[in-house]
Amino acid sequence: MSLYHAGQVREDTLIDDIVCSSIWDELFSELRWPRPMCWFAVRIPFKRLLVGHADAGRFKGDVDLMGGPLSFDREDIDRAMAQGRSELATLDAAWARHGRSIEPDPMLIERAARERAGRELVWNGKMKWPPDFSAGFTAAEVKVAVFSAEGRLKRTEEGSGHAIRKQARRLCELGFDRVALVRALVTEAASVPGCNPWMVAGANAGQGGYELAERLVIKEDDPFGTLLAPLGAIPDRPESEAGAGGICIIKPIPNNPLRVDPCVDNRRRHILDVLSRELAAFPVPTSNPVVVRDCTKCKRLFVSAGITVQPCSRCG
Ligand SMILES: [Zn+2]
Repeated sequence: MSLYHAGQVREDTLIDDIVCSSIWDELFSELRWPRPMCWFAVRIPFKRLLVGHADAGRFKGDVDLMGGPLSFDREDIDRAMAQGRSELATLDAAWARHGRSIEPDPMLIERAARERAGRELVWNGKMKWPPDFSAGFTAAEVKVAVFSAEGRLKRTEEGSGHAIRKQARRLCELGFDRVALVRALVTEAASVPGCNPWMVAGANAGQGGYELAERLVIKEDDPFGTLLAPLGAIPDRPESEAGAGGICIIKPIPNNPLRVDPCVDNRRRHILDVLSRELAAFPVPTSNPVVVRDCTKCKRLFVSAGITVQPCSRCG
């Protein structure tokens, strides 16, 4: 099912897609998430994070998506990276017999070595747990608009542009290092005789994205950044499998200027204490992605590692 037809679960599904799919590079780099060596938490109610804090009642709603880098011992990383580079050289030599060669771009080689190192260290239970939040603690507010096959932009996000910006600002008031407002747009898939479906999806995403961008209110002094993500749908396929589109930065994400406020810093420290305490109750995750979720049954956080969503281990 495409996101256009996902109704009530559209936003939740898109947030899960962000964690698992690879088209969100700009968001990951703006929020300093070094894929695949990062942890995430999705749709965590404010009241769970601020439990016991004087401001718990003042913040209503959820943090759509937050995360940061996983942490490892420097020695472990260096060794796994060296091993990765050496394996790439071995692969290159093996391929040379068939006239092939690996991509010589040093940046790509470092990225491949880092991804391999991350996977090995995670699988071997080498990550520090709970993560070192001082290495990075950032968040995103996600809003999804829909664009019909007839070319109509539908306002599905509750409230005005002002209310949406207020929600993103609230995340800054919780003390995250950096906050992104993600304005996604999903399209109704359409078939046009004589056209490749990716061509149609890309054109729909482009036009819908343009119309949404025209309506965005961007204030230079907003303490968060804004990203636009138009996603074109292919008939009968979910966007996580096939689609066209991309993501662009409308306003770069600043370092959260509200962190200098002592009240903001106090909320941040409270949240990090809660997260550390709750996550320490779980064993070191050994698969990616590492995702913290909220259990609506036992009203506690739980850790679900790996692509498939695991149920809360307390409630089964
Ligand atoms: Zn539970």
